[in-house]
Amino acid sequence: MKKQKNAKKIQMTVLALCAFVVVLGAIVGVTLILSHKGYVGSGDNQDSVTASADPAGEDGKDGQDSSKDAKEKTPEEEPKTEENETEETMQQGSQLLEQAERLAASYDYDAAIEMVKGMPGFDTNTELQDKVADYENIKATLVPVNMDEVTHVFYHTLVVDPERAFANQDTNPQAVGNNQWMTTVSEFQKITQEMYDRGYVLVSIHDLIETETDENGNTVYKPATILLPPDKKAFVLSLDDLSYYHSYDNYGYAAKMILDENGKPTCEYIQPDGTTVVGAYDCVPLLDQFLEEHPDASYRGAKGIIALTGYNGILGYRTDETYADLNNPDLSADKRKWMEAHPDFDLEQERAEAKKVADAMKEDGWEFASHTWGHLKVGDASLERIQADTQKWRNNVEPLVGPTDTIIFAHGQDLGDWGDYDESDAKYQYLRSQGYTVFCNVDSNLYRTWFGKDYLRQGRRNLDGYRIYKNATGEQDNVSDLFNAGEIIDPLRPPVPSLE
Ligand SMILES: [Zn+2]
Repeated sequence: MKKQKNAKKIQMTVLALCAFVVVLGAIVGVTLILSHKGYVGSGDNQDSVTASADPAGEDGKDGQDSSKDAKEKTPEEEPKTEENETEETMQQGSQLLEQAERLAASYDYDAAIEMVKGMPGFDTNTELQDKVADYENIKATLVPVNMDEVTHVFYHTLVVDPERAFANQDTNPQAVGNNQWMTTVSEFQKITQEMYDRGYVLVSIHDLIETETDENGNTVYKPATILLPPDKKAFVLSLDDLSYYHSYDNYGYAAKMILDENGKPTCEYIQPDGTTVVGAYDCVPLLDQFLEEHPDASYRGAKGIIALTGYNGILGYRTDETYADLNNPDLSADKRKWMEAHPDFDLEQERAEAKKVADAMKEDGWEFASHTWGHLKVGDASLERIQADTQKWRNNVEPLVGPTDTIIFAHGQDLGDWGDYDESDAKYQYLRSQGYTVFCNVDSNLYRTWFGKDYLRQGRRNLDGYRIYKNATGEQDNVSDLFNAGEIIDPLRPPVPSLE
């Protein structure tokens, strides 16, 4: 899918460019840029990406602006001269090369090669041909990732203000929960950097899967081939409960996801004095920033998969149907309180805003999964309860984030023991009938990936306060493959008591 999208983008860009310029100008322009930008024969794509890539969003913005300008300028307003045609050609050629470099940096050498080959004048331009040869040479050094050794890590909403989140450990059970289950912004940043330094590359959970149709016309799941440099390791990331539940209020978490002036996902955060600020206060914008600066930290632009419940809405928006009626006798106390504080609330407008943010996240590579509507324990819950819950998710969450084939179970519960699911199990049959084919639980094993004949299961490792603290003190040793817990632990994190 992703590849097709890239290819289509490339074709469109190239077509636009071809229609726009005379071939002679193109050859001259591109050659000039190549020598100007120092791309020629550089085999070190990493450095040239860093040097040429502008800060987040700039590339896209510039591209849009210049194409808009080009469309708006009619011949009457500004007659085309050979000079400004050459300049436009140079700009577009430079953009194409930057895009190609970015594709190559994210290990999509096929798309990078296709892009350069499609540039005007390629047939006669030896610099462009050398560029393709460079890409081919690097591509030949890639090796397939061992699918049995793809670790999957997850976080909850990050703690922005540890002092607020962790205060009163002795008297406030929620503060104890914040300390156990949550990772702080500084810990997340350090882990992300350290995993990158150790060669971890983010892949989509869907990158793991290759589907085939067998002789009976049934879909079969097989491990896919992911090609990375020999010193790189693949990992999957998920984020649980990105809802900014009412219960998080005043504990020093972000309050909601919004879009910044460039249409990119960012966060609203309410400071202790009640004033609201906007910035990268949670995993999504923090990781987006990191990947913008380190395109080689992600395989083909993959981001994480976000597991959403529905009962408090999604992404900080109160999108659930239960918010429609203040007289609903089943309304929980925190929902009632929130609704009374927001008398002008409009459910449909809220849903439209949430959808806009979700769309922008998907555009950036983020994916969405069900975490069940009500944070259900699927092992304990009855079939009827799972059915009712699933329908609530489909009614209240799916219209905002789109359909998903992935269910990330809450409370770490699962439908059965590790291995193949029991296909006669009614809960399993029901979830399959609802389109779920990717199932995740929680597990402390370093790797836990299981291909059923037409589904995938994966165990996930919680990189939370509990695990960070227990590894920092040496009571546990189950994250040292990823980072040194003693070095990344937030100095403001209090001791985390043992669960048993
Ligand atoms: Zn959860």
